[in-house]
Amino acid sequence: MKILLNILTHGDERIGLKVAQEIQRFKIDKNLFSVQIANQKAYKKNKRFIHQDLNRSFPGKKTGNHEETLAYKLTPLIKSADLVIDIHSTLCNLKDAIIVTKLDTATKRCLEAIQPKYVLVMNATKNNALISQAKIGIAFEYGQDNDPKNLEKMVKDIKRLFVHLGLVKQPLRKRNRAIKYFNVTSEVAKPKGYQLLKDIKSYKLVRKSEAYATNNKNTLMANLVAQEDFYPILFGDSNYETIFGFMAKKISGLA
Ligand SMILES: [Zn+2]
Repeated sequence: MKILLNILTHGDERIGLKVAQEIQRFKIDKNLFSVQIANQKAYKKNKRFIHQDLNRSFPGKKTGNHEETLAYKLTPLIKSADLVIDIHSTLCNLKDAIIVTKLDTATKRCLEAIQPKYVLVMNATKNNALISQAKIGIAFEYGQDNDPKNLEKMVKDIKRLFVHLGLVKQPLRKRNRAIKYFNVTSEVAKPKGYQLLKDIKSYKLVRKSEAYATNNKNTLMANLVAQEDFYPILFGDSNYETIFGFMAKKISGLA
């Protein structure tokens, strides 16, 4: 089993360095485990990316801008590992979410060992994300970059995964937690001038016909209204340029 710990897919998510440092203390056989800094150039400039989001650039292009060619170079490395762990941070209050792009048996076994609060099956961006190239790809999106609690939780949960895989020898303590699974199906557009309404939050159900955003003008089109029930995921006014975030449905983890 070859495990790749991928950090700094986004060059400003520096918590990845700390996670790598902590994980190296487990002294896992170097033939089985390696660390990769995905976007060196963005990391050195402390920027999310140079030309475009690397995590939307896979499988990449032989010729193109920095992230397109970088994705192309990284793809075989990601494919050659049996398990890729991708470390992120977010300003959204995602409360310990693991992101995957598929939910096959091998992936599910890993998730059940970790027992995170939330699993987001990213169908909206699935083919362009780094983990989409992996045999088993698990992205940690637990919280803010400089939060020591966030670091501690990620290291603890990666350790759980390594205990499950037999890389760290210690008993796996059961957590009495039902993992909530969400299928993230599509983006929610953010038209110019619109803002989210105050109580619209990640994981809080928006019902069909409910207003979720407004342009604060007294017109017929002042509010954006849900066409169907959905759970907002990674939602915020300033997370992305053209979208508020993503729309998700609850699913059972059994499928
Ligand atoms: Zn990220």
